[in-house]
Amino acid sequence: MEKKLHGIPASPGIAIGPAYIYHRLGFTITRRVLTSEEIPLEIQRYQNAIEKTKSQIFELEKKVKEQMDAEHASIFKAHQVVLEDPVFTEGIPKSIQKRCLNAEFLIHEELSQFKKVLSTIGNDFFKERISDIEDVGEKIIENLGSWERDQLQKLNREVVLLAIDLSPTDTVNLPTDVVQGFATDIGGRTSHVTIVARSLGLPAVVGVTGLTETVQTGDMIILDGNKGIVIINPSPQSLKNYQIVQEHFRNFQQSLEDVKALETKTLDGHYIRLAANIELPTETDDVFLHGAEEVGLFRTEFLFLNREEIPSEEEQFESYKELALKIGQGQAIVRTLDLGGDKFLDHLNPYKELNPFLGLRAIRLCLKDIEIFKKQIRAILRAAVYGHLKLMFPMISSVNELIESKKYIRICMEELQAENTPFKNDIELGAMIEVPSAALLADILIQEVDFFSIGTNDLIQYTLAVDRINEEVAYLYDPLNPAILRLIKMTIDAAHNNGKWVGMCGEMAGEPKFIPLLLGLGLDELSCSMTVIPVIKTVIRMISMDQSKFIAQEALKMRTSQEVSQLIHDNISNELKSFLF
Ligand code: PEP
Ligand code: MG
Repeated sequence: MEKKLHGIPASPGIAIGPAYIYHRLGFTITRRVLTSEEIPLEIQRYQNAIEKTKSQIFELEKKVKEQMDAEHASIFKAHQVVLEDPVFTEGIPKSIQKRCLNAEFLIHEELSQFKKVLSTIGNDFFKERISDIEDVGEKIIENLGSWERDQLQKLNREVVLLAIDLSPTDTVNLPTDVVQGFATDIGGRTSHVTIVARSLGLPAVVGVTGLTETVQTGDMIILDGNKGIVIINPSPQSLKNYQIVQEHFRNFQQSLEDVKALETKTLDGHYIRLAANIELPTETDDVFLHGAEEVGLFRTEFLFLNREEIPSEEEQFESYKELALKIGQGQAIVRTLDLGGDKFLDHLNPYKELNPFLGLRAIRLCLKDIEIFKKQIRAILRAAVYGHLKLMFPMISSVNELIESKKYIRICMEELQAENTPFKNDIELGAMIEVPSAALLADILIQEVDFFSIGTNDLIQYTLAVDRINEEVAYLYDPLNPAILRLIKMTIDAAHNNGKWVGMCGEMAGEPKFIPLLLGLGLDELSCSMTVIPVIKTVIRMISMDQSKFIAQEALKMRTSQEVSQLIHDNISNELKSFLF
């Protein structure tokens, strides 16, 4: 009997093949009491393993830098930091000496302790740190010579890889000629694994609860990285359907080049701005490669994560300047820091918040830590001299917050002026609409800014009271809920009534099925993940604005999301229907 499991779509594409369960933590650690003669030898053995691990991490960093880029390689910088932790440099040798126990056992004990402490904190950022620490710890144990890692390189047949979790090391070492795609029990949308999967172009689904308990090596698997579904032992019908979807998707990827050159216009000639969301400036070249014209959201917080210290104004300036230069004729929206929620820095968020998504997050954190905020604003204003950058504030919930934020733009401009430092003095400012109060106040907020961008990831979470990273309530996370559609409509109307433009940069803008409705509601720009750009462009080119407007107008009268979905289905061409439904 076929079984379907749901997770988080991490990287698009369809993989079909036999399962291979990768046991990342499948080693047994024994506890060995040492004689006093053995102790110095054990310390030496441990130190040799540390040296070997150091050079392996260095090599991995070099490899990723060559094959991907410096930013992805920085994952392994984080590993170097872990390796330099006093626990490894001093703690373990001291314990060997004091407790007369073997290194493997002590490392394993230390890792379990780390894990216990970090997992009680329970957010994505700390889960990531657990995975970094585990990865480094495993490498040391492996280098002690007592355990051989499950050798993925030895795989010689095509498989769909399934694991509880994959470390960044595992992911960059995946033999992509045989691994068709992968799924994991753990992981979220900000996981390193997710980012690397997209760069490799491997279909992936993460956060599939119960996955490795349910599947056995050899089971037939369909992995749908577009929808976040894993089907175990599919029926002949599902297999047939998915072979067709897979074929479509492959054709799509091949036609990427053709789609890239085409205009983003509806059948009746309405032009839509199609933009991409990026996390690192180095991704900008790919934006064009995928057929988008601009960057609708640059999530700057990724420059701040995975490191000990806050990036200096100069370092940030270089990053934003790189983006400004690369964006060429296009434009890029740089969002100020959105830390907090599920993205933390220990030194900025020292207190454990019970409700971090409702706590000191995004603009709230910046308005509390003005020096960090000003450093970033100054860097953006300076970089905007080199290309068309716009600046946007996240998580605005009142007009006071917006006025206060703008005050610091003014202060930074005055400072730069006084220092004779070149900067852009008429940078366009925007507010993200991702809190219900902001949508309700849109007509007031728009007086303070040049544009809005609707962040549906948070708008849905805050409107429907559904934690966006909690798999247990994922079924309630419903973009087509009429309450969401009304808030979107209010936001668009408020902007347009005041001669301003409005875009959407939440994941909703990257869901092909919603495009007819979103265009009809009047969005001027859609910004989504890079990999779905060709699909979104294709959908836009297959509908008319008249059709879309009708759909939007009727959708606003509906009572349930099911009715809205049906409405979209019933009012598009058969060709588009077969593509979307
Ligand atoms: C959003 O909330 O929709 C958004 C785009 O911001 P983030 O996903 O970074 O919170
Ligand atoms: Mg958001």
